[in-house]
Amino acid sequence: MSDRFFLHQNQSGPHDVGEPMKSPADGWRIICGNVGELERAALVSEFWQKIDRNGGPSACWPWIGRSTHQAGYGSVNWEGRHTQAARVAYALDHGKTLAELPAHFVLRHLCPGGSDPSCCNPRHVELGTQLENMQDRMSEGRYARGDGHFSTKITDAQVRELRGIYWSTPQGGRPLLTELGEQYGIYWGTIHRLLHGKTRKDAGGPTKEPDKASATRTNHVCGESHRMVRVSDQRVKELREEYWGTPREQRPSTPALAKRFGTDSKSVWNWLHGKSRRGAGGPTGGFQPA
Ligand SMILES: [Zn+2]
Repeated sequence: MSDRFFLHQNQSGPHDVGEPMKSPADGWRIICGNVGELERAALVSEFWQKIDRNGGPSACWPWIGRSTHQAGYGSVNWEGRHTQAARVAYALDHGKTLAELPAHFVLRHLCPGGSDPSCCNPRHVELGTQLENMQDRMSEGRYARGDGHFSTKITDAQVRELRGIYWSTPQGGRPLLTELGEQYGIYWGTIHRLLHGKTRKDAGGPTKEPDKASATRTNHVCGESHRMVRVSDQRVKELREEYWGTPREQRPSTPALAKRFGTDSKSVWNWLHGKSRRGAGGPTGGFQPA
């Protein structure tokens, strides 16, 4: 008591502190605040410690946490879900919870040096459709292979997504069952049964072509993947004019045309002969010489 009095004897009442407080070497200890928020902050900090960010903001940030999925990505429990570390990094960077991210969108790695599944730099990932993700991988010529390949389980959400993408894409633009098998890491025959609802009925999602009448009525059934592979009426018409206007021996082959339009040769043949896309217009057969 006497020490206190001695120190403050010339300064009564509130007064400025001469020296600003220095932070302790091991950081501040927080002793008050909303416990939920503090806990969250601690988890976030713990999460980032499992990611090597030494390369700087534009480099890849590899996951150095203990749990890694066989496909190479960091695996983490976050907000009660088992998910990819990069997805959590993306959510945190966007100030969102996992539940706030669109559930049917998958993570696309767009690392400058080629997609690196372990990378958790939010600048290198995007949310996209399964189809886009598959195209990314196909363009890199890289698939997850291995002995565990065919035994991988797929979630109900993935089954719904798979069905949704497949059946909303017009025939001819649909990915091959073998490609989907590679993508989801399961046997293509299994994919076939999933798509047609022979298995995993309870997972939901369409198991056949969307009803044509309801498609025109609601006008949105086909969705995004549809637009991606959709060849416009104008292009179909131009193709017909070009094809049938060319002498028979100079016409391009249907496989070559299929490649050009990103579809299969049967679809091209159907367009050319008016078996499909009738409404697009243009000739659907060779002109008879007069
Ligand atoms: Zn990266």
